Amino acid sequence: MQYLSTRGQVQPVQSAQAIKQGIAPDGGLFVPESFVNLSQDKLRQLVDCDYQELASEILGGYLTDYTAEEIKDCITGAYNSDSFNHSDIAPVHSINDDLHVLELWHGPTCAFKDMALQLLPHLMSLAVSKTGEKNQVVILVATSGDTGKAALEGFKDVSGTSIIVFFPEDGVSQVQKLQMLTQQGGNVSVVAVKGNFDDAQNGVKQVFADAEFNKELQQRHYRLSSANSINWGRLVPQIVYYFSSYLKLVKEDQLSIGKPVNFVVPTGNFGNILAGYYAKQMGLPINRLICAANPNNVLTDFINTGVYNRSRDLLKTISPSMDILISSNLERLLFELTGRDTAKVRSWMGELKGQGRYEVDSAVKEKVQAYFWSDYATDEQTLNTIKQVWDEHHYLMDTHTAVAWHVYQNYQQQTGDNNKTIIASTASPFKFNASVAKAVLGSDKTAGEDEFQLLDMLSQRTGWEIPVGLKNLDKMQVLHNKKAPANGIGRAVDEILK
Ligand SMILES: *Cc1c(COP(=O)(O)O)cnc(C)c1O
Repeated sequence: MQYLSTRGQVQPVQSAQAIKQGIAPDGGLFVPESFVNLSQDKLRQLVDCDYQELASEILGGYLTDYTAEEIKDCITGAYNSDSFNHSDIAPVHSINDDLHVLELWHGPTCAFKDMALQLLPHLMSLAVSKTGEKNQVVILVATSGDTGKAALEGFKDVSGTSIIVFFPEDGVSQVQKLQMLTQQGGNVSVVAVKGNFDDAQNGVKQVFADAEFNKELQQRHYRLSSANSINWGRLVPQIVYYFSSYLKLVKEDQLSIGKPVNFVVPTGNFGNILAGYYAKQMGLPINRLICAANPNNVLTDFINTGVYNRSRDLLKTISPSMDILISSNLERLLFELTGRDTAKVRSWMGELKGQGRYEVDSAVKEKVQAYFWSDYATDEQTLNTIKQVWDEHHYLMDTHTAVAWHVYQNYQQQTGDNNKTIIASTASPFKFNASVAKAVLGSDKTAGEDEFQLLDMLSQRTGWEIPVGLKNLDKMQVLHNKKAPANGIGRAVDEILK
């Protein structure tokens, strides 16, 4: 299997090369030349597989320059009982016959990023040796909160690599910030950026695009790469849980193979939901992919109108991992929906960069609307949904998952679609506990309490246990204190690598 750039101006490469590079040299994103097909017969054979076996099957189809043995080792290193606190890895919690929640937060940092970032470092480390790379691979990450910690955990002390994480100083929760600032490991750096997530992400993108700086780094024996969700090694592991959750429902006699389901996905950078689109292309019976947004609803507008317009203020919400105006992975969808018309992709991405806006043609818009449906939830609706679902179902959700739940309710009301639906739950409720506690306990009880007291209060009230990774964070030593302005990310990299 070879990998092409969405901008069509570089030669195809093997998967190890695509994973090592992160982003294609022409500024595009790497995409597989074709989709592996899993027929209904094949799906039937996979029903009894565990998560690791299913992951081997799916990854094996795409990472054809890795041996079966190597893939198996990577998977065992990633998805095991040391890092995940549930044997299903991504368990499905059934609310009722029609509605199910796919819990993607049982990994070490309590958010769905672990699903990919526990695996990527293993793939990356092998990619370095497979491609004969002599330089140290330096992973640069811009994070809206969850990716940073998950990447730090995944890459800490992985040989041949080091990692630098940039996060918006005031754009992450107290828990998220401390998770990063207390990170241990000999090859890790963490930098607070003055600005929002888009500033941090743009700053990192500029460093990647700075040919001269990259050349200089090569002379110093460094090669930059990305662990952001534009890396193919981030996307491919995410395809697995779309299949695993479907097959789980089949195994439990909730579904028969071939019957379509909807997935509702709280969306920011469009990586998670894009993996769902890939799963559908591979043969998974998916009816609609429901893209749930917060008030930074660029994607909702895009899906409903065909116009992508990032010229608006980035709003701070209680679902900060979705506070994004430039959803990078959408480029991969446009590549497919235009019939792989790289000239069109280049021109739209050029307009986005130059004018902050582009409009797709009607054929593409129709296809977008055939696959996707989108709406958004305000912060108030999000809090109300957490409370409502706790009261009605005794199920505790984080803010991002609650956005998805709210949007699903709107979807059902507006479409009457009764297909079974799986909501992707992307974080433990304790990771965003300030808002969750406020919703469940009431703001009169939570006002003035710090995030760590709230963890205990929430746990006591609900009987849900605080995950290990979030306990005692406030008592751990802060190990990182670097800061950089939004336009100083290159300089920070330069200094850290000195
Ligand atoms: C990253 C993240 C999202 C958004 O996922 P994308 O792949 O960027 O669309 C949603 N919820 C949580 C908790 C996240 O960490």
